[in-house]
Amino acid sequence: MPAAKDPLPRSLEPLPDESLPGFLLRLAHRLDLTPSHVARRASLITAEVAQAKVPASHLLMMEDVVLRVFADATRIAPAEADRLTLRPYTDRYPPLAQALVRPGKVTRPRKVFPPWLLMTHSRYCPACLAGDGTPIQNRYGGPWKRQWRLGVVFACLDHQVFLHHECRRCRLPALGGRPGSPMTMLPASPAPRLHPAQCRNP
Ligand SMILES: [Zn+2]
Ligand SMILES: [Zn+2]
Repeated sequence: MPAAKDPLPRSLEPLPDESLPGFLLRLAHRLDLTPSHVARRASLITAEVAQAKVPASHLLMMEDVVLRVFADATRIAPAEADRLTLRPYTDRYPPLAQALVRPGKVTRPRKVFPPWLLMTHSRYCPACLAGDGTPIQNRYGGPWKRQWRLGVVFACLDHQVFLHHECRRCRLPALGGRPGSPMTMLPASPAPRLHPAQCRNP
C-alpha cells in the first residue's frame, strides 16, 4: 500500500490526452530529477530495491489509494490523475474494459496485456511531441499521448499524419525498453537529464 509523502515542490498541469509516463517525464525534467525519483516520490514505486520499476498496469489505471496518493504528491486533482491513464477510455472502447479489467466488484488492471490492444511501446507524432509553441511546451515538450499506446490508433488527427512507431536514429520502438523485455512504462527511468521527447532506448 503506498504511503502518503510530502508533495513535490512544484508540478505541471497535465496536457490534453497526456499519458502517465509522459506526465512523469515532463515533471522530472521540470524538477531536474530522474523519472524514477519522481515516481518514487509520488509512491508509484513502492518496492525498496533500487531497480524497481513503475508497474506497467498503471498505464491502464491507478487503483483508488494509489490515485489519491499520486494526486496529492503531484499537486493535481484525482480526476486529472485518472485522465492520465487509459481507464476513462473504457467507457468508449469496450474491448479495453473487457480485456484489461478483471471481473469482480472492484475494477483492477490485469497484469498481462493482449498485444492487439495495448502495445509494449508507444507510437508517436513528432509534431505533438515538439509542443504547440506555448512557453511551457517549448520548455518541457508536448504530450506523449495515452491513445498512442492503443493498437487501433495509428494517426494523429490534430496534425493529419500517420504516427511513427520507431526512433528514427536507433530504429527501435519508442518507449519500448530493451527488445524482448516485458512491457515497461518508463524505460531508462533512472537516466538523468533526458528531454521528455528524447529517445530512451538502450
Ligand atoms: Zn500530432
Ligand atoms: Zn533511438
